[in-house]
Amino acid sequence: MKNIDIIVPCYNEQEVLSTFYKTTNDIVEKIPDTCFHYIFVDDGSFDDTLLILKGLKSTYENTDYISFSRNFGKEAAMFAGLSNSTGDYVIVMDADLQHPPFLIPDMVAAVNEGYDCCAAYRTNRKGEAPFRSFLSRQFYKVNNLLTSVKMPYGAVDFRIMSRQMVDAIVAMNEAERFSKGIFSYVGFHTKWIPYTNVERALGVTKWKLHGLIKYAVDGITSFSVAPLHMVSIMGCVISLMAIIYGLYIFIKTVVFGVDLPGYASTIILLLFLCGVIELSLGIISEYLARIFIESKHRPIYIAKENTTEHTKEIRNEEKNN
Ligand code: UDP
Ligand code: MG
Repeated sequence: MKNIDIIVPCYNEQEVLSTFYKTTNDIVEKIPDTCFHYIFVDDGSFDDTLLILKGLKSTYENTDYISFSRNFGKEAAMFAGLSNSTGDYVIVMDADLQHPPFLIPDMVAAVNEGYDCCAAYRTNRKGEAPFRSFLSRQFYKVNNLLTSVKMPYGAVDFRIMSRQMVDAIVAMNEAERFSKGIFSYVGFHTKWIPYTNVERALGVTKWKLHGLIKYAVDGITSFSVAPLHMVSIMGCVISLMAIIYGLYIFIKTVVFGVDLPGYASTIILLLFLCGVIELSLGIISEYLARIFIESKHRPIYIAKENTTEHTKEIRNEEKNN
C-alpha cells in the first residue's frame, strides 16, 4: 500500500473546500493500492476556511491541516505542506478545482511507470484576463532565455512527486521561494501532461497585478544572475561608445576649433546615461534585496496549529513494525 499526501494551499477558500474534498476524494478512492491523505494549509485566511478545515478533520480521517499565524503566501503554504508530508509520493494542487482532480489517476500511473514526477501544464488560459496572459507569456520567454531552469509555457503547480524529490525540494530552504523554478532545478525524471484550463469552481482569484510582477521578478532573480552580467556588459559597451564619441569631439575641436552648439546631443547623452545608471542600480538592488532577506534566516512560515504530527507518528510506527 502506497501513501500519497495531497497538499492544498488555501487562502480564503471557504466556498470551495467541501466541494474540493468530495470531488477529489471520489476520484482518488478508486485508485487501487494507494492510501490518500490530505494536508490543507490555511494561509492566514480571514474567512471561515479554518473552521471548514476543522470540520473536515473531525469528519474524515484522511485529512490534516496546518494553520498559519498570518498570510505568508502560496509559496510558503506549499513549503509547509511539503516539509510536513511523510507520504511515499506527494501531490500539490490548488483548492479551487482549477487543477482538475481527474488527472490524478494519470499522474499516479506515471509514477507507477517509474517517473519521479508527473506535472500538469495547461494548453490554454481560458477565463483569464488577456493582459495577465500576455504578461505571463512574456515572463516565460524572458525566464527561459535568462535562466538555466527551463519551464514549459503553461506549467502550473499541480504535480505528483516522489519522496526523494520532495526531500530535495525541502532541503532548498531559501526564504524567497519560487517553486516552479525549484521543481525544475532539482531535476528528476518528469512526465508532462496537458490539460485544458478550467475556470475557478467558486470564490475569486487571490492574485493581484503587483503580486504577479513580484512573482516574475522573484522567478528570474532566484535562478539567474544574467541581469547582473548584462549590467556589466552594458557598462562596457557604453564606456566604449563614450570613448569613441570623446575622441570624435576631441579631433573635431582640434581640427575645426570650438563649436558651441551641441545642447541637444549633450542632453540626450546625459538622459540616456542617467537612465542606464538607474536601471543598473535597480537590477543590483533586486539582488541586494534578496541577499538582505535571505541573510536574516527568518522562518518561511509560522504555524499556529499543525495536526500532521499525529499522522507522522502513526506512519513512523507503521514503518517500524
Ligand atoms: N493561495 C494561498 N495563499 C495566497 C494566495 C493563494 O495559499 O496568498 C492559494 C489559493 O487558496 C489557491 C491557490 O493558492 O488554492 C491558487 O490561488 P488562486 O486560485 O487565487 O490563483 P490563480 O489560480 O488565479 O493563479
Ligand atoms: Mg485558481
